[in-house]
Amino acid sequence: MALVLHDSMARDKRIFVPADPKRVTMYVCGPTVYSYAHIGNFRAAVVFDLLFRTLRRHFGADAVIYARNITDIDDKIINAAREAGAAIGDITAKYAAIYREECAALNILPPTLEPAATKHIDEMIALVGTLIAAGCAYAAEGHVLFAVDRFSAYGGLSHVDRDEMIAGARVEVAPYKENPADFVLWKPSAADEPGWDSPWGRGRPGWHLECSAMIEKTLGETIDIHGGGQDLRFPHHENEIAQSSCAHHGAPLARYWVHNGFLRMGTEKMSKSLGNVALLRDLLEQWPGEALRWALLSAHYRQPLEWTDALIDQSKRQLDRFYRLLAEAPDAPAPKEPPKSVALALDDDLNTPSAMAGLHELRDIAMQMEGEPRRRAIGALKAAGEMMGFFSADPAAWFRGQGADGPTAEEIESAIAERAAARKARDFAKADRIRDDLLKKGVVIEDGPGGATWRRA
Ligand code: AMP
Ligand code: ZN
Repeated sequence: MALVLHDSMARDKRIFVPADPKRVTMYVCGPTVYSYAHIGNFRAAVVFDLLFRTLRRHFGADAVIYARNITDIDDKIINAAREAGAAIGDITAKYAAIYREECAALNILPPTLEPAATKHIDEMIALVGTLIAAGCAYAAEGHVLFAVDRFSAYGGLSHVDRDEMIAGARVEVAPYKENPADFVLWKPSAADEPGWDSPWGRGRPGWHLECSAMIEKTLGETIDIHGGGQDLRFPHHENEIAQSSCAHHGAPLARYWVHNGFLRMGTEKMSKSLGNVALLRDLLEQWPGEALRWALLSAHYRQPLEWTDALIDQSKRQLDRFYRLLAEAPDAPAPKEPPKSVALALDDDLNTPSAMAGLHELRDIAMQMEGEPRRRAIGALKAAGEMMGFFSADPAAWFRGQGADGPTAEEIESAIAERAAARKARDFAKADRIRDDLLKKGVVIEDGPGGATWRRA
């Protein structure tokens, strides 16, 4: 059975045929590491993890090379470091480590490769040189710009018109630009900004350039799949295409372009600038990562997904039902082949709603059986869920973890506040009672210099 993917370039579903089935390459634009990521940021990470798993099922685990970069040089990072009074490298190392941990909590497999922008500056400078030599780029006032007029296919992915292009250039139209839509490949750094010596002076790369250089270095000139959030189609991916194709004599950057839709809060995109974000680290205090993963995959990846407490709650409850069954036979044998219904749904452009319906059916089937057939049916269900990165917890532990029958994070916080008030009033008996009561419910309170913190035992 073939894997079918929606290709944003073709604007249609296409059967996925890699250039070399022994070396299937996928690149996904990764995080800019300067703060905690919100759940919207993780939609792409989860969706492309599912695609990674699906590719591995088709072509073999060793045949798929998945690179997800770390953007560790960027103006937002420079500003965050300035505000925190910290070194840029400390900020990026901290948030890259947090990002990896949070991905693990969502059962996201580590990508095969995780190139960091600052480790590829030489390649970026070389790429700029190639683009100037090819006549696609020009240097002006310490900047190097890509001349969009000299790449006739510009706009082919996003089909934006000229006004949008100019707006997409984001910065005010600088006088040194030949065309307002030209975008920056390299820009000068002030003395107090990080920079690297280059033929155009001390400076730093533009964001688009980073991905083109890292793709070329880690995966090659033309890759099988390029992915990211749909907002990256323009200008980011359009500019990656322009850079890479110009540098590689017109060779396409990617054979398939896959984009995921937005996570919404109400009718708006969840976004930092709107201030309507739910940070993953806060959600993980209250919910198991797998319930958040289930919620993220509950809509088809190209559709918008509305994020609500009810969605998370329902996701947790659905998983509870599966885990209750899995708990009957935690060591049920896996079948030779995972169940077809779920595999076929995933192979149809990652149709996760249909795949989840398939899991529910497998559960219903198992529930109607007894003895050894029931055990085998549970094994089949488990294998089907694992294709999607579910059912990784020990069932017994699942029912003890976050969102289990214990108090909610809100209830815990309010008990802690009550305890602090009791202590302030020197009613230590009451304070101790509250602490012991929480402990009985599996919540440990720890007093520290910044006040009390809690964790589930
Ligand atoms: P930001 O931190 O807002 O700059 O977002 C970084 C990347 O995360 C974006 O380029 C998107 O691809 C992705 N992203 C941000 N917000 C959302 C969202 N609400 N839904 C899906 N993806 C998002
Ligand atoms: Zn990119």
